[in-house]
Amino acid sequence: MKEKMVLYFPSTTTEQPFIYYLIKDFNLLINIMKANINPRKEGRMVVEISGEQADFAAGLEFIQARGVKVFPLEQEIVWLEERCTHCGACTVICPVDALELDRETMKINFSGEKCVVCEHCIKTCPARAMEARY
Ligand code: SF4
Ligand code: SF4
Repeated sequence: MKEKMVLYFPSTTTEQPFIYYLIKDFNLLINIMKANINPRKEGRMVVEISGEQADFAAGLEFIQARGVKVFPLEQEIVWLEERCTHCGACTVICPVDALELDRETMKINFSGEKCVVCEHCIKTCPARAMEARY
């Protein structure tokens, strides 16, 4: 099987060689399409993973048990600006600062390229301005 996924690494996990483990211990092929990893900070990686179904499941279980969050890539989060009231509630819960409050304008900015599709903002937004698209 082959799947594109987003891997989200909390700050406590970014110094561990998870990609190496997936390749060596689970026989998976990893094509890194996009990566933003910094020591002791949260990181994000867009990857295409190929391998046998059992290895795939075991490998993902292994990294998830150690704190890495895994999201399917076919899902995308969109910000419906016309609905947004710029209340700022989403900026507190977004784990990767994809939603930030501009202190000068007091308006929200959404950076889709940082988003790891965790969907926390969808549940939090009182104006239903965040949506998942498939
Ligand atoms: S889904 Fe929302 S809360 Fe989660 S990373 Fe994307 S913008 Fe942030
Ligand atoms: S929680 Fe919703 S309404 Fe409030 S700033 Fe975020 S997107 Fe806009």
